[in-house]
Amino acid sequence: MDDAITLKVFFEEARAGRLVGIRCGGCGELAIPPKEFCPACAKRAWVRAPLDGAGVIASYTVIRVPPRGRAGEAPYAVAVVKLTEGVSLLGRVVDLPLDSLRVGLPVKFRPIVTADQTLVGFGPAAGG
Ligand SMILES: [Zn+2]
Repeated sequence: MDDAITLKVFFEEARAGRLVGIRCGGCGELAIPPKEFCPACAKRAWVRAPLDGAGVIASYTVIRVPPRGRAGEAPYAVAVVKLTEGVSLLGRVVDLPLDSLRVGLPVKFRPIVTADQTLVGFGPAAGG
């Protein structure tokens, strides 16, 4: 069985609450979400790399004027989270007051599951 994962599998796993990245079998580069080729060595030799899902906010933006179709959801925040494993991932902030957000705040991966899609989200690190 091919151990590499596609973007589809990435979101299926995310929906189940598991954050999975991929590690390049050529150079060891860790990537998330999955890419076609390794950005570091241009090989396509990915192996599955389960991630803990814990990290800290590296930067964030509060969205006050949402994209079309999401008018009822603003304001909300999206953050670039630097995971414990060293890679960064963009996700929606959930269950954290906007005024509590700061760079360096510990957060934990939490999928945002709706009827037709799964989004990457990050909530409080303490599990509450
Ligand atoms: Zn590589």
